[in-house]
Amino acid sequence: MVLSGPSGAGKGTLRPYLTKAFPDLTFCASATTRPPRAGEVHGRHYYFMSVEEFQQHIEKGELLEWANVYGHFYGTPRRPVMDALAKGRVVLLEKDMQGALSLQKTFPEGVFIFILPPSLDELKRRLMGRGTETPEALQRRLATAVSEIRSAGRYGYAVLNDDLKEAARRLVAIITAERCRVSRQNAAWLDALVGKGESKEA
Ligand code: 5GP
Repeated sequence: MVLSGPSGAGKGTLRPYLTKAFPDLTFCASATTRPPRAGEVHGRHYYFMSVEEFQQHIEKGELLEWANVYGHFYGTPRRPVMDALAKGRVVLLEKDMQGALSLQKTFPEGVFIFILPPSLDELKRRLMGRGTETPEALQRRLATAVSEIRSAGRYGYAVLNDDLKEAARRLVAIITAERCRVSRQNAAWLDALVGKGESKEA
């Protein structure tokens, strides 16, 4: 499951609501060369690393995708995602549009959700509230937001984050519905329910 959308749309803020609602959901942190913000923890929010380390990960094929976002490298470490999927866990990722579209090709069965801010003014207010962006960086994030919002049609779902709890409820509903898809059900439990072989009704 990939949450995407402009920086400041609220992907990171929505995450705890989902991990609380679905205990079998695993958030896989990205690797990045961006410096940590106050309160960000290595291994939990991101794997922070140097450009050299990041390049080694690329060369060794250890990233499922990577992109240069706002002047820093971000990428999806392959191992944690594949290990969690192999254990039958639901993997939650947060990516920019480049990352989401690339992952769509690798995992066409994935659920790709675009988080929309209520307005560009609100987006600007949230980004300024972080207090971490220079005026140039802020402008860059806002310009990218406009072009990403224009391309929201490339996602399976769009969720407006005007009210955090309501947006979280919408995400929980999407995951719940997706899990009920017949194509995602394990045939074994259907067999366990009614048994294999001929119907005895006739
Ligand atoms: P931030 O610096 O605000 O944490 O993230 C900047 C942007 O990079 C966000 O849109 C975020 O979703 C995206 N991002 C985070 N991790 C990855 C990743 O592994 N790959 C890609 N392509 N984008 C990422």
